[in-house]
Amino acid sequence: PAPGDLVLDVRAVRKQFGGLIAVNDISFSVRAGQIVGLIGPNGAGKSTTFNLITGVLGLTTGEVRFRGDVVSGLPSREIARRGVARTFQHVKMIPDMTVLENVALGAHLRGHRGALSAMLRLDRPEEQRLLREAAHQLQRVGMEGSLHELAGNLAMGPQRLLEIARALCSDPALLLLDEPAAGLRHKEKQALAGVLRQLRAEGMSILLVEHDMDLVMDVTDHIVVMEFGTHLMEGTPAEVQQSPAVRAAYLGT
Ligand code: ADP
Ligand code: MG
Repeated sequence: PAPGDLVLDVRAVRKQFGGLIAVNDISFSVRAGQIVGLIGPNGAGKSTTFNLITGVLGLTTGEVRFRGDVVSGLPSREIARRGVARTFQHVKMIPDMTVLENVALGAHLRGHRGALSAMLRLDRPEEQRLLREAAHQLQRVGMEGSLHELAGNLAMGPQRLLEIARALCSDPALLLLDEPAAGLRHKEKQALAGVLRQLRAEGMSILLVEHDMDLVMDVTDHIVVMEFGTHLMEGTPAEVQQSPAVRAAYLGT
């Protein structure tokens, strides 16, 4: 996508679980080369919104458009194939494989049905291609010095960067990050912020669910605030920080 193009367009999306409206007619968009923060107190509906965008959950009403096409209603695998990648709050990796192997395997699994067939059917050139791709993406997140370390020996910060590298292997246009700074040390958060800024400079669009307000205020271009499933406000980091409604939602004042 060209800079400024509409990449993600969430339009009046609603998700009802029985009597509970977890996401109540939410609308917002993400443009190419933008980092948008999605914040709000626990239970606000952020994770549900992620699941609606990625097709993990079906929506009740509304629609999600990705690069101009309606993707709501498509299977999550198809939405991923079109260029929506995500990381999870809890890192999933194989601890006794190397960093490089973990990313290569993740890249391979994305296009296939199961881990077992993935392991059995890899031919040599395909394996080499995946390893080169994985090394390239690990370099983008600054982990080129750790390719052959066991993933199980990584500190939390590098684990999160590994996850991001794996997500990047599908060549996505949109990256959804679910609390990437949770449990990170200050230095690790700074490294993460640097990676996110670098990806943005390369044209990546990012939707960031994050509780660490310092990171959110530091790296985002635009912030959407949810509360009890509703769209409370949106604006620049400065506008959100100054909003009495946001202060009330967070601090109860
Ligand atoms: P957040 O990520 O902002 O903390 P969630 O999207 O996880 O919020 O949850 C929003 C609301 O929806 C909460 O009240 C939660 O209990 C409810 N909820 C989430 N998933 C389900 C589900 N599968 N079934 C029923 N209720 C759910
Ligand atoms: Mg959540």
